Amino acid sequence: MTREEAYRLILSQMRLPPPEFSEEELSSLIRFVQASGIRPEGPGGAPFSLEGRRYLEPLYAERQDRPFRRLVIMKAAQMGLTTRLMYRAAWWVADARRKVDVALMFPTQDAVLDLHKTRFRPMMRSSARMMRLIADVDAVEVVRIGVSNMRFRGMRSGVSVDSIPVDVLLFDEVRLMDVATIERAFARVSASRLEGPEGRGIIELNSTAGFPGADIDYYFRRSSQHHWHTRCPNPACPNHKGFVMAFTWPDCVDPDRMVYRCPKCGRVIEDPQDGFYAPLGPEDAEWEGYAFNQILLGARRLPELWRAYQRMVIEGANPSEFYNSYLGLPHRDPNAILVTGEVMDACRGLDPTYRWPAPGPHPEGWWTAMGVDQRGVEKHVVIARWGPGGRVYLAHLEVVERSGEEAAAYLAHLAREWGVDIVIVDAEPSYDLAVSLGRRLPRGMVWLADYVHDRPQPLEWSDQRDREAIRKSSGEAKWEFWVFIDRYKHLLQAQMLFVNRRVALATDFEAKVQELRRLGQRVPVSLGLEFRAHFENIARTTIPRRRRDAEGREVEEEPRYTWRHLALDPHFVHAWGYAVAGLMRRGGTSEVVRPREREGLDPPGYQAQLPPELRPQSRHAAECATCRYFRHSPEGGMGLCQNPVVAASLGVPPPVRTSPRTVGCHHHRR
Ligand SMILES: [Zn+2]
Repeated sequence: MTREEAYRLILSQMRLPPPEFSEEELSSLIRFVQASGIRPEGPGGAPFSLEGRRYLEPLYAERQDRPFRRLVIMKAAQMGLTTRLMYRAAWWVADARRKVDVALMFPTQDAVLDLHKTRFRPMMRSSARMMRLIADVDAVEVVRIGVSNMRFRGMRSGVSVDSIPVDVLLFDEVRLMDVATIERAFARVSASRLEGPEGRGIIELNSTAGFPGADIDYYFRRSSQHHWHTRCPNPACPNHKGFVMAFTWPDCVDPDRMVYRCPKCGRVIEDPQDGFYAPLGPEDAEWEGYAFNQILLGARRLPELWRAYQRMVIEGANPSEFYNSYLGLPHRDPNAILVTGEVMDACRGLDPTYRWPAPGPHPEGWWTAMGVDQRGVEKHVVIARWGPGGRVYLAHLEVVERSGEEAAAYLAHLAREWGVDIVIVDAEPSYDLAVSLGRRLPRGMVWLADYVHDRPQPLEWSDQRDREAIRKSSGEAKWEFWVFIDRYKHLLQAQMLFVNRRVALATDFEAKVQELRRLGQRVPVSLGLEFRAHFENIARTTIPRRRRDAEGREVEEEPRYTWRHLALDPHFVHAWGYAVAGLMRRGGTSEVVRPREREGLDPPGYQAQLPPELRPQSRHAAECATCRYFRHSPEGGMGLCQNPVVAASLGVPPPVRTSPRTVGCHHHRR
């Protein structure tokens, strides 16, 4: 050991607080829970007990020398899991001599604050031993505990999850998070010193059930799938060796006597927790998986369960929510996906003459909007136009693989090339990209989009709002053109355009092909098929809303609707939503408008903000057909503009394809 190393060792030993818990007390989770004296409801609450919760025993029996390195728990609501999550997090940081970084991931920042206030702080304050380790229990972002850190994060933005390395990564309510964001967060344990045969670090996912094959079920299917098996008390019955009661719902209920019964022999089951876990998954599963539900809470809970079943499933109020939150089973309402492949195929025949158009402004000057989703590495672009009869024509799809200034320049080029009237671009994750694009195009043409929730109307434009209502965010101060999009309401109306057969798709829909980087190779991809697949990966679902009443009891409120991504992130759906917002801007309203004919219409969009003399002239005065630079095509239709100034202003080489009826060119010369 060098002098330098010896010096550091002494220093680090001096900094170490005395061990608060002995090795024996830390040897298992249950031992730590008992030794710490942490009470689930905080100071004055009842001490911890597993009575009535036998299904949690294997989870509390976890040993420090043989931890669950990859744990996935799919459950019903209100099963006592949040308490266990807090205990498990505290256990890992309670060894004052070993630095362990724990991160607790929640769907939103609101969820973080709520948990911190109603669970974490009261629980820690109930233990004098824990409080001796904790520097500042009120710190929300990072709580220092001995030499270790406990971090709390809301995942909605996706921004905060990438950087800090952690050893123990615990996720709560996975069904409200995107799989892509979760997987990105996994990388944070890659440098952990906690190492075992299954990999580095410790990861736990727990959640009420969501959609089959997605959400928590995506991971549960890759797990050992331990389901709680209840024994039928009748020794002669095949179910005596154990069966999963939730799988047999509602046959496991005798509604006349309001008791649980064996669906095979009819014998009353007094205690559904008389049983054991048995794995139903593959033996070499990557994850340890556990599933349990409210049936295990027994006959006392049954009347409430039965009422919920009547209301949500039989009366049809919300079947998925019953299976997810009460039975802990994945479930999807058959109507959850609005724009199925079938719906989209029906839109292909709407205009049998329509094929993908060539780049260029629309020959008749249809209002054209471009939507840009920039949340992935790739930027997804949708260009759409208002056609006659209130029909929307999908004109172009593209995936832009560039980034930074290069991406902004290319997107501006696309907008000019296609004669776009308005661009709606996602303001996140790169605000700079959105603003850079805005600065490259005429003032008022580019609008930054921000998703908001629970607004009275689907779209709110920053120039429509009361001054007091304008949010004083730093972003908005720097850029004046914003559209606030109610995520649920607007994506609903944007998708309903397909359902109501108002979108005309090209008959050669698959033929929109682009070469893209996939798994390190450049391959041709049909963007038409990709667009179709994205719409099949967004589904409507509900989020239960619970609040605490004056006595601290959880009360269920009307659930709220939301959109969930399924197996992939449907970027084209969001880009479509932005393009539709741009189309709606034409009428200056936030509703789906039937486009009127151009004549007699107030100047649309950004043109309304120009002084009258700079607005396009009336169509008869300045049609391209009367311009000296225009060359008619011998077949009629689109002609060519030979003016190099026009080409330069559009950023394309001359000549420029344009319709003889195009109006509004500032370079028109008789
Ligand atoms: Zn039986």
